[in-house]
Amino acid sequence: MEFFLRDRAPSDAAIDRDVARSCASKQPYESEASARAVAAMNGMSGALFTYHCRYCDFWHLTRRPTSSGPEIIDD
Ligand SMILES: [Zn+2]
Repeated sequence: MEFFLRDRAPSDAAIDRDVARSCASKQPYESEASARAVAAMNGMSGALFTYHCRYCDFWHLTRRPTSSGPEIIDD
């Protein structure tokens, strides 16, 4: 158990750093409806989808996942 805790903390911190960087470069929307409205305004409603971010507690837009995997966009 002690090993598990010691081993897990650093990787969680690394994930948090990555996500924080991704959040900072992405537009936060206060609701899913707001995010969808922006996607629609940009004519991207078919290419983008919304997700709720558990790190900043806002919504973000991301490209619809493809065979090459999900791709987070900077908007
Ligand atoms: Zn976020």
